[in-house]
Amino acid sequence: MSTGEWDAIVIGSGLGGVSAAAILAHCGQKVLLCEQSEGIGGLAHAFSRDGRTFDSAIRVLAEGEMVQGLLEWLGVQDECELTVIDHLYRADFPDMSVFAPTGLEEFMEAHIRLFPQEEEGIRAFFRLRRQMFLETAQAPMRVTDPSALGQIAELLPTLMKYRTSTLADVMNEYLRDPRLKAMCSALWPYMGAPPSQLSFFAYAQFIGVLIDGPSYCKGSFQKLVDAFVVAIERGGGTVLTGTAVEKILLQDGRAAGVRTADGEVFTAPVVISNADARQTFEELVGTEELPARFVKRLGRMKPSMSACVVYAATDQDLLAENPAHETFKYNHWDHEDTWQDVLGGRPGGMSLSVMTMLDPELGRPGEHLLIGTAVAPYQRPDGVPWHEQKDRFADALLGEFESVFPGLRKNLTFLQAGTPQTIERFTRNHQGATYGWALTPNQIGGKRLAHQSPLPGLFLSGHWTEEGPASFRVILSGMNTAREVLGHLGTGIDVPTFKPDDVPQLAL
Ligand SMILES: Cc1cc2nc3c(=O)[nH]c(=O)nc-3n(C[C@H](O)[C@H](O)[C@H](O)COP(=O)(O)OP(=O)(O)OC[C@H]3O[C@@H](n4cnc5c(N)ncnc54)[C@H](O)[C@@H]3O)c2cc1C
Repeated sequence: MSTGEWDAIVIGSGLGGVSAAAILAHCGQKVLLCEQSEGIGGLAHAFSRDGRTFDSAIRVLAEGEMVQGLLEWLGVQDECELTVIDHLYRADFPDMSVFAPTGLEEFMEAHIRLFPQEEEGIRAFFRLRRQMFLETAQAPMRVTDPSALGQIAELLPTLMKYRTSTLADVMNEYLRDPRLKAMCSALWPYMGAPPSQLSFFAYAQFIGVLIDGPSYCKGSFQKLVDAFVVAIERGGGTVLTGTAVEKILLQDGRAAGVRTADGEVFTAPVVISNADARQTFEELVGTEELPARFVKRLGRMKPSMSACVVYAATDQDLLAENPAHETFKYNHWDHEDTWQDVLGGRPGGMSLSVMTMLDPELGRPGEHLLIGTAVAPYQRPDGVPWHEQKDRFADALLGEFESVFPGLRKNLTFLQAGTPQTIERFTRNHQGATYGWALTPNQIGGKRLAHQSPLPGLFLSGHWTEEGPASFRVILSGMNTAREVLGHLGTGIDVPTFKPDDVPQLAL
């Protein structure tokens, strides 16, 4: 059965999918969005339990100003309220702790106070990060003409020098004390790879925007997703939940529509996949339809690590401990030792956020809501299925934070835990990948996937693409994809960039 004709069909309602769909609908395109889950939003989805609202994954959004600009342009700014968080995090190490404020100068000062003898190195390291950030803003996403490399190297020396470095490489060049290196990279769990593997480029981009102050969306990030849905529907688009796409249909090698698991067929000259990239090409398209080189490249790419997530409520007065909204906890000074904990299936790369500090109305009166996360492998090395271990893991993870909130586990009024398989089940991101491809130097920027796939009319939007992971980056991906689709459809409409200088691509 064939249903309706559309200008564009979007597969998946993650922020990368809803943002692209909202922009296209706003620009007069007839858009259909199919989401396999009953809930909308992918990793931005929030769930409710007995009067409590939990974000399933996202706790902070960088570049709130850019997102606000987009919402205003779409005319849905009143549908959600972004509030700026006035600090970044606290990171606890075995015998020291750092409170990281927002603002570059304040952030550097917080580290200089603890390691005054390394002031010069700290300033040079963070200045370098800033320089990378600025040069990236001027860099092309891809260099197709090798003869241009010499000129680019002259114009963008820092970027060219460090684009293939890991965070550890660069810290080793500028910082001496191993404890200072550990502190300056305390944010690595946000990027799912330890400093020895993490691209310095990706780190520079993340910290570069977070340092200005992350935002939270009042009422949960579901409100942000819902604002995009309002824009889709106001633009005449349709959103179908519980509608898994099982096949992307092709005609003469071009995208022509989708077939759902229920056998319904929708046709359109453009299909945008916000779904897992491997699923998109290997299952929904079929590798036989794709150039062999592309299939080989896809086969070589590695997904990011997964995570265990704990959702908890307590009637303990957590604010009495004067916490940060998010605390990272390290039992080792060496992040490589923490990484061994992660690989061993023990809590590692841990953080705990007090969500009701950002928005008291998320919880029931008199309660605080907490979200704990730990970086985790898809499969436990001991072979024990995660679901059999999840309660013990959740207890151990919360136990780690009793150093911040004494007696935390005794005062819980609610507890639920998710594993890498939960993430995979709800989002279909293979191996429960949290951030698309792993953020290693060989998988960032132009080395991730382009929006335009090898098949005309088939586009990608989301954390498998060149903008990389995180809420604001996948919204940026949605904006860039929509822009390309509008060009492909020959509409002559352009999408504003909102804050171009401050939001560089992860280029080259
Ligand atoms: C535990 C955790 C914590 C995080 N914390 C933060 C944070 O604090 N801040 C931040 O910025 N980022 C955070 N991230 C990263 C961020 O959530 C992701 O990078 C981003 O949300 C990914 O968005 P997306 O649109 O690419 O895809 P997703 O959110 O993964 O959405 C993909 C969608 O496609 C749907 N789909 C898949 N297959 C099909 C199909 N066949 N048919 C129909 N629909 C399909 C899925 O159901 C899903 O809704 C976190 C991630 C995790 C896992």
